[in-house]
Amino acid sequence: MANLQFSFAALLIAGGVLLACLTVFVWRRRSVESGAELAVVLAAATIWVLGGAAEHLSTTLAGKIVASKIQYIGIMSLPPAAFVTVLVATGRTAWVRRYLAFAAPIGVFGLIAVATNGLHGWIWSSVELDTTGSMPVMAVTYGPGFMLTNFASHAQLVAAALFFLPRSLKSWHVDTTFAYIGFTAPWIANVIYLTRSGPWPNLDLTPLGLVITGVSFTISFRGAGSVFSTIMLAHRDVLEHIADLILVFDGSGRVLSANRAARQTLDLPPLPAPATLAFASYLPLQRYVSESIPEEREDVALEVQGTTITFDARSVPIATSKGQNCGVVLVLRDVTNQRVSELDSHTHREQLRQIVDLIPHPVYAKDATGRFLLANDACAQAYQRSPSEVAGESQFDLHRNSDEVVRTLADDRRVIESQLPLTTEETFGVGTDAERMFRTTKVPFIQDSSELPAVVGVSIDITEEKERERLLESLASTDSLTNLANRRSFHQILANVIDSATHKHERAAVLFLDLDRFKTANDIYGHLAGDEVLRQVAARVQEIVRFNDPILAAENFAHESTTVSRFGGDEFIVLLPNIAEPGSAAIVARRLLEALNVPFEVGSDRLQLGASIGIAIFPTDGTDAEALLRHSDQALTSAKQSGRGRFEFFNARIGIAEERRHELEKALRHAIENDELSMHYQPIRDVRTAELIGAEALLRWTNPELGSVSPEEFIPIAEESGLVIPIGLYVVRAVCEQMARWQLQGFRVPRISINLSARQLADAQSAANISSILEDTGIGGGNLEFELTEGSILSENPIVENTLSSLRELGATFALDDFGTGYSSLSHLRRFRFQRIKIDRSFVRGICTTKDDEKLMRAIVALAKQLEMETIAEGVETEEQLAMLRSEDCEFAQGFLLGRPVPAVEFDRLLEHEKMDAQE
Ligand code: C2E
Ligand code: CA
Ligand code: CA
Repeated sequence: MANLQFSFAALLIAGGVLLACLTVFVWRRRSVESGAELAVVLAAATIWVLGGAAEHLSTTLAGKIVASKIQYIGIMSLPPAAFVTVLVATGRTAWVRRYLAFAAPIGVFGLIAVATNGLHGWIWSSVELDTTGSMPVMAVTYGPGFMLTNFASHAQLVAAALFFLPRSLKSWHVDTTFAYIGFTAPWIANVIYLTRSGPWPNLDLTPLGLVITGVSFTISFRGAGSVFSTIMLAHRDVLEHIADLILVFDGSGRVLSANRAARQTLDLPPLPAPATLAFASYLPLQRYVSESIPEEREDVALEVQGTTITFDARSVPIATSKGQNCGVVLVLRDVTNQRVSELDSHTHREQLRQIVDLIPHPVYAKDATGRFLLANDACAQAYQRSPSEVAGESQFDLHRNSDEVVRTLADDRRVIESQLPLTTEETFGVGTDAERMFRTTKVPFIQDSSELPAVVGVSIDITEEKERERLLESLASTDSLTNLANRRSFHQILANVIDSATHKHERAAVLFLDLDRFKTANDIYGHLAGDEVLRQVAARVQEIVRFNDPILAAENFAHESTTVSRFGGDEFIVLLPNIAEPGSAAIVARRLLEALNVPFEVGSDRLQLGASIGIAIFPTDGTDAEALLRHSDQALTSAKQSGRGRFEFFNARIGIAEERRHELEKALRHAIENDELSMHYQPIRDVRTAELIGAEALLRWTNPELGSVSPEEFIPIAEESGLVIPIGLYVVRAVCEQMARWQLQGFRVPRISINLSARQLADAQSAANISSILEDTGIGGGNLEFELTEGSILSENPIVENTLSSLRELGATFALDDFGTGYSSLSHLRRFRFQRIKIDRSFVRGICTTKDDEKLMRAIVALAKQLEMETIAEGVETEEQLAMLRSEDCEFAQGFLLGRPVPAVEFDRLLEHEKMDAQE
């Protein structure tokens, strides 16, 4: 039995050591929920177990009593500690103090009672040393106090288990099982001992139960505690290190907890000592704490350590399980920079928008489906909408003209697919009269999302430009006075008509119309009246050929495609494409003449003008435009010559003359280089003495095929074709070279007269060219006289004046040729300072037969004398004429009688003769 007792004690010691170890283990994890409380439980159990071992080992009664009293420390402290542990573990921390206030006095009373030897029977009524067999045991008789404290202990253990039950039932676990073993083991063991049942009624097995309690609790705690502590630590660390400010306020507005960011930023003392936030400085936060604001976010600006920080504040009320507000978690996030950059990018966008709106040209961005993502003011205006009405709209919604939309979208597609810019012309499809035209450049947008623009367009208003273009085009093709096709476009029309007539083997007619007496009317009534007449002519002609004139309709003539053009001045051309026979043209011409014969009403005046028409037919009168025009013009001239107010067809007679003219011109082009030109010289003599005072240089042309051609025939052709300019220079050079030769031969060279044509005078280079020829040949300008006709100096052309004064500076003199045939305006004679007048041979011819001519001759000579000019009579063929001239006091004469025009070699002889005369 003693052995049994001994080994029992050893078992208790081992259990006590084990519990002590567990106590240390749990205590070290006291930061875990209920860790500290559980450590108290285990410490109490350890004392209890070790006290039990000591009681068994001591052999004296006194020793056993002391050990028993020590055990009581554990017995009194374990049950309340267990209960507190359950309270903490089940989250009822607020009850702990209240509970201890009730439970602690019981324990303290129990301990005092035991310590003072059971308060004389209150706990123990008698204690003796007894022996069971050879084993000394303590035989105790318990008092009522024992019953009370024992009951309290048991009640607390049971209550703890019951408290623990609801929570553990939610998730029953192996840990919970161990916890229940921990609650029940000492209680069952104690109940067994107290009822003296079981195998060893004298052995108190309660301490062993306590060991089981300790182990079970520790196992349970370990499982729950490790998870719990990790989570707790993680929470704490996360909260501590998070950049947001996190503050926990209690219901009265005190800060219960604040993470590091909050402590540092708001300058709070170390927690958990409850601190009061100085709301004076953080006034905006007060409402989160004092008012109960449901969870919400908003920006709060705080003055923190001298700078203003904008926080995104979010408050989360903390509610008890019964729904009562007991505090607030406030999360503050510093969004100062974010707000600034948001503001920046907003202002940036706004500025961009304003800039784009300021651009006076439409600017827009569309997505790939043609929807407008952006349109500036100018763009919206072009669509006659407001900017907000355009954004988001598809082009189909804005455009009236769906064809153009389809085209525009196709352009967009091309830009997107090719990723290349494209420039097109477009309208904005408003469809009104004021619709404007734009030149748009579309640029692809780097597209990485369908939300982004695909095409950006910039449009420039080209309405005015287009109008100018159109105007220019029409100006170029129409005559501004009559709105008819002008000369230029007529050529185009004629070319087209000839083209089509050639292909279709049709006939066409060109009617060349010229007003009779128009120039007179213009002179008398003025240009405005003249313009009005031309407008009326245009209207009448158009009326007839365009609008199914009743008379023409009766003649079965109706021509849709007839065109009328103004060719210049008072010349009009009517083009009749596809006529059945030349007679049709005659019908139209007759009708036109009739219509134009009706007087024109201009203001209060009635002008009777009339017209003449020349007609050329394609293809008989010409197969090209140039020939048709020329021939109709010739027919017109012929019509005028044979008495105006008529029309005439181009015919063979006109054609032959024209052919020759053509031939001459062609040949004349090569006359100089082929050395076909030569000079003849005709003497000019003194009427009284017959002395040779000069000679007129006259041009001669002998062509191998055409033979000798008269200057009267070829000079006009040279004039018209401009060939007279090189030919004229040839003459001057030939004359000067000849004079130089004569000088070398020792002749006294007379003054030579050279004919200058109008075209030569009007050529700016003439004077310079003549001057350089004089220089080349060494002939003085004073040896030359230039013969000019009145016609060539009539126009007040500054170039003509320049040419004349340059020649005058060279020393040359001037003679007015063919006087009496032209206008014979005396004012010209004075103005151009002619030295001589050449009286035309038509006058000279008549002086002996016609009294008028004789009188005229006398008047001319007298006038010339008054103007200090000399007179030369041309074409003197008879002695009578010469005698008459002599009597009329005419100074000089020229004519077959006094010497025919002869080649230079022959003229040599004349000079020779003169020389001899002089020597005599
Ligand atoms: P013109 O200046 O009146 O020249 C005088 C013309 O009358 C010359 O004709 C001459 O041969 C001709 N003639 C001279 N005496 C008589 C006469 O007694 N009776 C008749 N019936 N005729 C006479 P030509 O040589 O045929 O020249 C004709 C016209 O050609 C000239 O008329 C002149 O205007 C022009 N011409 C001639 N040579 C030149 C020239 O080198 N340059 C220019 N620009 N014109 C020239
Ligand atoms: Ca002459
Ligand atoms: Ca003459």
